[in-house]
Amino acid sequence: MFLTYKYLLLPTKRQRQELDSICEEQRQLYNGALQERNWVYEKTKKSLTLYDQCKSLTEWRNVDQEASKLPSTLQRWTLRRLDNAFKAFMKGAKKDPERWGKPRYRSAKRWHSFGFSEFSGITLRDKRIKFKGLSSSIRVNFHRELPKGAEIKSCVFTKIANHWYVAFQIKVDIPEKLQSIKNAIGIDVGLNNFVFASDGSSIPNPRFARKAEKKIAEYNRRLARCKKGSNRRKKVKLQLAKAHLDVKNARRTFLHQWSRALVDNYDLICHEDLEVANMAKSNMAKSIYDAGWSTLFQFIAYKAEGAGKHVRVVDPRFTSQECPGCGVRRRKSLADRIHKCESCGLEMDRDHAAAQVILSRGVVTPGHAAGNVGLEIPN
Ligand SMILES: [Zn+2]
Repeated sequence: MFLTYKYLLLPTKRQRQELDSICEEQRQLYNGALQERNWVYEKTKKSLTLYDQCKSLTEWRNVDQEASKLPSTLQRWTLRRLDNAFKAFMKGAKKDPERWGKPRYRSAKRWHSFGFSEFSGITLRDKRIKFKGLSSSIRVNFHRELPKGAEIKSCVFTKIANHWYVAFQIKVDIPEKLQSIKNAIGIDVGLNNFVFASDGSSIPNPRFARKAEKKIAEYNRRLARCKKGSNRRKKVKLQLAKAHLDVKNARRTFLHQWSRALVDNYDLICHEDLEVANMAKSNMAKSIYDAGWSTLFQFIAYKAEGAGKHVRVVDPRFTSQECPGCGVRRRKSLADRIHKCESCGLEMDRDHAAAQVILSRGVVTPGHAAGNVGLEIPN
């Protein structure tokens, strides 16, 4: 199983300039290689292969010192990126030649990354990263550890809102045998609580975005007052992008921690099928939280897979009406916060009851789909 772990880089001013110029050089390499491909394609209607271009790269590196001041794995990543774009074009052009355009030359505005096609020519030691072409090693903000024994396969450096990040693609062994189920938990997602678990724990709707939301609103107001094309506008735009990024990162960190705790503590995790749930619970102001829930479920899915734990996705219908004690259904209005069963007398928090229903559905229907496991952490 492959996973992506992304970290903020903490470069010095000089290193920042170096990263920027490496990125720019790779853009030029991409455009140059694209020009070569286009030329051959016009002449022969055949595409150069990645192999062809890597061979030219080696020849170029042999004769030009400029070319060999960066690791070849770094340049090969750029060529592979072009290869992927060209392959997509060739495939599309076969199907529908009218609609598929050739890969485009990249302007500096549309080029923000470079990478290593394999993890060689680059080292990661003592939370610092180094490769040929940098004057010194760059500090990495390791806000979470890489999994133990992880093998790094490749990595990508990306500039977002004026910050540089590195994303490691790592290979993780999946336990061949699933853990036996000794305990299980059901989780209910909702608007009153972000999630409520069958063990009684809950997360209120996260407030992490509040402060950042105020900032975002403020920057939006400022932006509206700026003259188009002014330096000030550029600056405010960058601040706005940064604020959006802060919200996203805070949310992801929070969801990572919570899903990790769930997978560490439980062998079986049951939750509702969100797609079906959304159809059932339309017209609610739920869209705001949708992204958070599906991200949470994706995090749970891949963490569970890595740990050999089980995930079951259950039918969400009537989970909030059914009594976890006796199974009798009774309509509740949204205002009813307490589940009160007239048949068996059970009385408990409404969301807690729903979480228990979800748990019991997951436990008794082992044949149900074990969730669609995305192998890559979505960004
Ligand atoms: Zn009951």
